[in-house]
Amino acid sequence: MFDKILIANRGEIAIRIMRGCKELDVKTAAVYSDADKTSLYTNYADEKYALGNPSPAKSYLNIDKIIDIAIDSGSDAIHPGYGFLAENPAFASACEKNGIKLIGPTSNVIQEMGDKITSKKLMKKAGVPVIEGTPDGVTDIKEASKIANKIGYPVIVKASAGGGGIGMRAVYEEDELIRAIESTQSVASTNFGDSTVFIEKYLERPRHIEFQVLADESGNVIHVADRECSIQRRHQKLLEEAPSPIMTDELRNQMGESAVKAAETIGYSGAGTIEFLYDNGMYYFLEMNTRIQVEHPITEMITNIDLIKEQIKIAAGRELTLGQEDVVVNGHAIECRINAENPLADFSPDPGKITGYRSPGGPGVRLDSGVYMNYTIPTFYDSMISKLITYGRSRNESIARMKRALNEYIILGVKTTIPFHKAIMKNENFLQGDLHTHFIDEHKKGIDKEMENVILEDLERVSRLKSTFMPAKKIAAISSAVGSYLTNAKTQQINKKR
Ligand code: ADP
Repeated sequence: MFDKILIANRGEIAIRIMRGCKELDVKTAAVYSDADKTSLYTNYADEKYALGNPSPAKSYLNIDKIIDIAIDSGSDAIHPGYGFLAENPAFASACEKNGIKLIGPTSNVIQEMGDKITSKKLMKKAGVPVIEGTPDGVTDIKEASKIANKIGYPVIVKASAGGGGIGMRAVYEEDELIRAIESTQSVASTNFGDSTVFIEKYLERPRHIEFQVLADESGNVIHVADRECSIQRRHQKLLEEAPSPIMTDELRNQMGESAVKAAETIGYSGAGTIEFLYDNGMYYFLEMNTRIQVEHPITEMITNIDLIKEQIKIAAGRELTLGQEDVVVNGHAIECRINAENPLADFSPDPGKITGYRSPGGPGVRLDSGVYMNYTIPTFYDSMISKLITYGRSRNESIARMKRALNEYIILGVKTTIPFHKAIMKNENFLQGDLHTHFIDEHKKGIDKEMENVILEDLERVSRLKSTFMPAKKIAAISSAVGSYLTNAKTQQINKKR
């Protein structure tokens, strides 16, 4: 086992990784930028090292600096978490060159899977279903247009190097194709330094269903069941659940087998995720994430397998002690991403100081968070505050617990996605498990209305506190924080009610 692991990340995921390290009795080293001097995770680590300038390029993406710190601190491995350097082949290869074990696959595998065209080709060869489209990057517009006509509109133009939902555009008519190709090429070139784009069939109401895999360095591969991540805004996940509400044993075996085949084909090692789009009884390979996912806790809840510890043990060269038969799905888990964003203003970021904080608890509730009372969320990084996860013996029980936990959760000072998740918990289509990737767009009106209702309900709860234990000043602060989500017209209506 490793002696010391450097965690090349920040926030909740840094803490989550350190928790795994502590249980395995491995020492931890944190890195932090000037903007993270007071971040909670730095105090969880046994040692901490400054990265200086808060800009991501100069801190958490600075390969040379991080490698130097790993060497100087005597760390024998680096855990990259998700985001930042987690899927960066240059970083993986720098670790390899310097004799530091990266907790993840080899640089070669990261490179292959980071390129959507290459990964699709490899999967097709392995017999994993892929979405019909151009086999290579688009070089000849006429040829591309011929293929688009053959597969039929709508199609989607995607950047081969794309990620984070950036660099893709749906096209409904032939007239729009050239413009879409050009604009995606330019977005791809700016964001990823590679303008290669390809075209594939656009599925209009697919579900996003992904499979967790674990593979050791001796070639043993298992899947650790499925997660459904169809509730997305701008192609980014907001709420995930496991298992998928539509999953049957038969479908899980079938998709799980494809996921295992995918990992085997590329000689994968570590924890990874094979993402599929599911449409009309068919499923198609979308991409592979060669790292731990944000939403890994829901898998941990339903299988009782600690994915972080498995990752570390695999990287330390141990063989998997789990066989496929040891993966038993039990109950249901939901994760709500709590971001500092205003869900009533198109999820615009709202970083700032947390002036009031009370976390939820009780049966079946897990909170993976990196914040505390009086913490200031920096503007430099993503806006995630925490991940609220609930577990129940059934989907209904996990939903009931999520509703309760969301109501218990108090965050003041910044706007959060809590009202959004409360609204989802009341949405009839969500309750019935009727999901697809355009769920938010399709139900926007209803969700917005419901968000306003839950904010009004919160105001009423605040006013009930008046007669009990809260000082008037505190109540005024809470009600103005709650009211600040709403439009002016709504605020006036509330003020009348007060
Ligand atoms: P990224 O790497 O940027 O995350 P993905 O290829 O994983 O991009 O796709 C992200 C999301 O984009 C999917 O979950 C889905 O909502 C949408 N998407 C991607 N390809 C298609 C497609 N062919 N048809 C419909 N939706 C798609």
